[in-house]
Amino acid sequence: MVLASSCLCPSDLEEIAEEYCLGHLDWESVRYFENHFLHCPACAREVAETQQFVNVFRLAEYA
Ligand SMILES: [Zn+2]
Repeated sequence: MVLASSCLCPSDLEEIAEEYCLGHLDWESVRYFENHFLHCPACAREVAETQQFVNVFRLAEYA
């Protein structure tokens, strides 16, 4: 998977946000994606929402 440009939102944003929150992205993609969503409110919001979902999922899993 290659993110084309830090100026563009990834076309599979939801999938990337999920993999990012689960720690499944390789470090290059993580660095690239972080550089992007620091300046992109839409992606930052998607990451925040996905992170929340992942946290709830993990709490449920380990409860
Ligand atoms: Zn974006």
